Amino acid sequence: MYDFDVLVLGSGPGGQKAAIATAKLGKRAGVVERRDMVGGVCINTGTIPSKTLREAVLYLTGMSQREMYGQSYRVKDDITVSDLLVRTQHVIGREVEVTRSQLSRNHVAMLAGLGAFVDEHTIEVSDGTGRETRVTADKIVIATGTIPARPATVDFDGATIIDSDGILHLERVPQSMVVVGAGVIGIEYASMFAALGCKVTVVESRTRMLEFCDIEVVEALKYHLRDLAVTFRFGETVAAVERHTKGAIAVLESGKKIPAEVVMYSAGRQGMTDALKLENAGLNADARGRIAVDDFFRTQVPHIYAVGDVIGFPALAATSMEQGRLAAHHACGEPVNVMSKLQPIGIYTIPEISFIGKTEDELTSGRIPFEVGVSRYRELARGQIIGDSYGVLKLLVSPDDHSLLGVHVFGTGATELVHIGQAVMGCGGTVDYLVDAVFNYPTLAESYKVAALDAMNKIRQIERLAD
Ligand SMILES: Cc1cc2nc3c(=O)[nH]c(=O)nc-3n(C[C@H](O)[C@H](O)[C@H](O)COP(=O)(O)OP(=O)(O)OC[C@H]3O[C@@H](n4cnc5c(N)ncnc54)[C@H](O)[C@@H]3O)c2cc1C
Repeated sequence: MYDFDVLVLGSGPGGQKAAIATAKLGKRAGVVERRDMVGGVCINTGTIPSKTLREAVLYLTGMSQREMYGQSYRVKDDITVSDLLVRTQHVIGREVEVTRSQLSRNHVAMLAGLGAFVDEHTIEVSDGTGRETRVTADKIVIATGTIPARPATVDFDGATIIDSDGILHLERVPQSMVVVGAGVIGIEYASMFAALGCKVTVVESRTRMLEFCDIEVVEALKYHLRDLAVTFRFGETVAAVERHTKGAIAVLESGKKIPAEVVMYSAGRQGMTDALKLENAGLNADARGRIAVDDFFRTQVPHIYAVGDVIGFPALAATSMEQGRLAAHHACGEPVNVMSKLQPIGIYTIPEISFIGKTEDELTSGRIPFEVGVSRYRELARGQIIGDSYGVLKLLVSPDDHSLLGVHVFGTGATELVHIGQAVMGCGGTVDYLVDAVFNYPTLAESYKVAALDAMNKIRQIERLAD
């Protein structure tokens, strides 16, 4: 007899959903988590703080209203770190409470501390004060997430040279910042600080950024960020960062020197597996701390599952939650489907980006014919009302069977709008549905109909010429 049917390590989105799904199936569930990290990276240091910070930046700078009220429009002139953090701390607090209450309502036992394997069914929980407790479980779900990767050669001090966690501890809004790494996290923070008036330089060793996104969308984003005084240094590598009393100098391999008040490294993430003593359970992790799993999130020890960022790509809160639920259902013997490959990507830059399905480049290299239907927000009444003249929605449509191959959105509400396309694609619908559908007016959702008509007009033109 084990103490738990399913014991989960980590209370981020993956762990939380695994524990609650277990409890809903009438099984005994427990979660091991540090006292001050309930809700995981997602609530405490990652998704929630960064998205709340973005909302605070958008509101206080008045950026989204400037098309209406002029370029000098501001809600507050001197935006301080405490202006930004007050909203962030408020939301974090509320989200932690929601998580705690959901777990307790569902009778999930909370074990405070960090867990490590003693053997493949036993976990030792250390609460950080020297107290250790052993618990056993029939099935175990590892959902321990990641921490920012820190290059060994860089002397992080938490004030001048920071990683993405350090953003939440800045004492003031810097006037200049170097962002090392143009991945999603790097570019999201680069846009927020640029919107605050900070002079941002992004250094990226690759020659492109966000290469998995639609190239036109990325070009549009770069245009907007340059307009906010962001400088891009693609194909460049930071060789060293010198720390001085009033800031730092990033020295690039090319010899360029970039002075900045703050240098933020956003150089990938490392799985939190070091403290797990995986070897005691017959498991291991790769050099980046990631654990390999099968389609049902089973590790090589079949009663031990792993979900969320610790298993690597796509490393999103959205996917982690679903992985947690599926792993728990599988562990409890419920029938489960393999996770759908059709998943949206949301990037909360300013302006935001979202897409689902294929890009034009992927379709072209796969020799899959497609037609493009475009709708520009400035031609929608809602676009005019909200003052978004740059937003665009693009549908990629198969001229053969009219199926939707991809949906790409740039501009206000992109991360919400994409789900209409996802629903049509997921249910096997075609562009014909969007042509015939009536949408509320005036809305941004209407862009689907406009883009669908555009795609169909182009397809019809080819058919007419070919007759
Ligand atoms: C700045 C930033 C912005 C992001 N923005 C987005 C976004 O907009 N949308 C999105 O979908 N995703 C976003 N993400 C990614 C998202 O936060 C992660 O994908 C998600 O949090 C991963 O969930 P997880 O279940 O793997 O656990 P995590 O949230 O990573 O939490 C893991 C938890 O496990 C605990 N833990 C570690 N080791 C042990 C142990 N030995 N025993 C017990 N507990 C342990 C840790 O304390 C931690 O609380 C962002 C991430 C960052 C850093």
